[in-house]
Amino acid sequence: MTSKPEDDASQSASRQPKASEHQDNCRCQHNPPGTNYYVSAIEDRRYVLLAGPFDNHPEACNWVERARDQACRVDPRAWFYAYGTTAMKPQYLKPGILNDQLGLGGER
Ligand SMILES: [Zn+2]
Repeated sequence: MTSKPEDDASQSASRQPKASEHQDNCRCQHNPPGTNYYVSAIEDRRYVLLAGPFDNHPEACNWVERARDQACRVDPRAWFYAYGTTAMKPQYLKPGILNDQLGLGGER
């Protein structure tokens, strides 16, 4: 059973947005056209791109929880990683390491 904190007024001021929630005032709106988005995990100081590339940031946000669940399935230590999204230059198109397992495929 998972429980989510209620969005009452006292909490909403200090509440941190989850990585899987796209924000209306997100900085991604300022990224150049063609920017690619990935679900990323930080393991110690190492960046791992789990899923992507996605055409837009909201889509990458939608995949954060699924990518995290899958990462934890294949690696118990993955619970301790930090998950989020990251923007990459248009030239960077390497598939995320979990793409196959998430049914995303390597190519678009
Ligand atoms: Zn965004």
